[in-house]
Amino acid sequence: MHSDQPEYRDALADGPAHRRGAGINPGNRFERVRLHVLGEELDRRRAERDAEGGGGGPCRVEREVFHDRTVTIINRVERTSDVPFDWTVNPYRGCEHGCVYCFARPYHEFLGFSSGLDFETKIMAKPDAPVLLRKELAHPRWRPEPIVMSAITDIYQPLEHTMRIARRCLEVMAECGQPVSTMTKSAMVLRDLDLWSKLARMNAGRVIVTLVTLDPELAEKLEPRATTPAGRLRTIRALADAGIPVTVNVAPIIPGLTDTELPRILEAVAKAGALRASWVLLRLPYQLKDIFLEWLERSVHPDRARKVESLIRQTRGGKLYSAAHRRGRGTGHHAEQIAKAFDVFTRRYGLNRDIRPLSSAHFRRPEVGGQLGLFGREENEGAS
Ligand code: SF4
Repeated sequence: MHSDQPEYRDALADGPAHRRGAGINPGNRFERVRLHVLGEELDRRRAERDAEGGGGGPCRVEREVFHDRTVTIINRVERTSDVPFDWTVNPYRGCEHGCVYCFARPYHEFLGFSSGLDFETKIMAKPDAPVLLRKELAHPRWRPEPIVMSAITDIYQPLEHTMRIARRCLEVMAECGQPVSTMTKSAMVLRDLDLWSKLARMNAGRVIVTLVTLDPELAEKLEPRATTPAGRLRTIRALADAGIPVTVNVAPIIPGLTDTELPRILEAVAKAGALRASWVLLRLPYQLKDIFLEWLERSVHPDRARKVESLIRQTRGGKLYSAAHRRGRGTGHHAEQIAKAFDVFTRRYGLNRDIRPLSSAHFRRPEVGGQLGLFGREENEGAS
């Protein structure tokens, strides 16, 4: 197997770091000079551990948290067929769930980090997000269009247990009826059931649960710190029972590895109470090619790895990735088969019947410093 880019492999004699997805730290594509120390650093940590009498196996790479003192929090994004929304709020950048295929990885390079192990261990957190959000929602120029929380990374990643930034942002949105949705792979979303229920009662809240496979062993290798597939099905059930509309995103579908599971996944999520489903084909932009191929090589049988790589290329015009080949859907016979199967089985299991779009009918500007918005209640008239 080979990627379209230069080889960046680090020597990881004992395998990847403990419960991390990426086994390498490819060079940042914006930097011409690269300090290539991951292999040496892991060797040093192993030596330290061995000297202290620790056991063998992979060493640990601990999480580092950096505070991002951003001055704005609601971001405008360019709407495309892959990005069907206009506004996002991202309390974190980087994601400790560490999904090996995560196409948010290359965004970490804009921060000067690597899209590999750095993405899942060097996390930027925005502790001021709830205060900024309140100010921006109170501003008369804000029109309450739906916001997606977590467009870049999962808001319910492990760091949220202690920092609670996402919860405090949601409290602001639930208080003022701001329509919001989030996409997650974590059962931690149930911690905020009270807020999601309040938003759902105003038809202003929706949760999208992402599910790639029902196979717990494969999931552990692909998404080392996300909730198990069975846990995600239970999460869908609990959300649905609380009246919160749930969409399931089967994403990414990995040709030759998870595509045959599609009918079973759609059946399972429909039984669990999901109303809608969507799918995205595996995308491997930039250094993600190297990260994914390195993972494939060490995680599945060589014959299967070759088949997966070949099928990925078949859906991307012979390359590992090409934005020209319908980014989220791919092209060619195999991609068409996946699309057809998705249509057949969503119909069979009663998914994707019409549900209402999120509403801003209940939106009221939040209080800032004890005052209702900046310009009083009349500013709220007509918000819909
Ligand atoms: S949970 Fe989402 S954002 Fe986090 S690593 Fe996985 S795919 Fe990326």
